Amino acid sequence: MGLTFRAVEADNGLIGGSQSDEFMVLTETGEEEIISCTACLYAANIEKTEVGHRGMGDPCPRCGEPLKIDRGIEVGHVFLLGTKYSKEMKALFLNERGEERFFEMGCYGIGVSRIIAAAIEQNHDEKGIIWPISIAPYIVHIVPVQDKSDDVMMAAKQIYTALMERGIDVLFDDRAERPGVKFNDADLLGAPYQIVIGEKNLEKGLVELKERKTGTFTKIETDHAISHVASYFGAAPKQ
Ligand SMILES: [Zn+2]
Repeated sequence: MGLTFRAVEADNGLIGGSQSDEFMVLTETGEEEIISCTACLYAANIEKTEVGHRGMGDPCPRCGEPLKIDRGIEVGHVFLLGTKYSKEMKALFLNERGEERFFEMGCYGIGVSRIIAAAIEQNHDEKGIIWPISIAPYIVHIVPVQDKSDDVMMAAKQIYTALMERGIDVLFDDRAERPGVKFNDADLLGAPYQIVIGEKNLEKGLVELKERKTGTFTKIETDHAISHVASYFGAAPKQ
């Protein structure tokens, strides 16, 4: 999902079992404090474990290297339940020697709406959201500059249709709005790519491809815009 995270040791709480890990997306606005090693994969939630007395710069309990403190948002939690529930429910299977054994169980929870919030916390600038491609609601945002120009709107619709046929999710801004309003809204909504179609470029057979993350514009031939964008995602025409 393009997120920077840590899997931290956590308390199993009411669910029980022998071990659990929380998946924390690191962000300054996170509600939890996480202590983690600067060298190995050791990480723990400060409040929920016995490491509370450890602080910044103290040695890692696994490797001895210094610890650091971050803030994070919990977006997932995996539990190793062991045989706690299978014993209570007498859930048995026969192993290869025909002996009865209790099932080893695990479970997990994912905070779907928290992932969206965490992704935006980690991927934005002063203009708005910058969606990671893997979870972007739209990959491409098409912005026709002159909505009263038949040529511009026709080219925009052709590119829109061709990308949709390749299974790429596209948002098409067909509103009768000023270009500045459309550009600002495209940056705010944060699709990873924008295709800007304007009269002057179109006369030369060109459109502009803007990468939201870097803000870079590339002029490409109209005919190539579709295959150019499609090539980013390995998308092929739908049969
Ligand atoms: Zn360590």
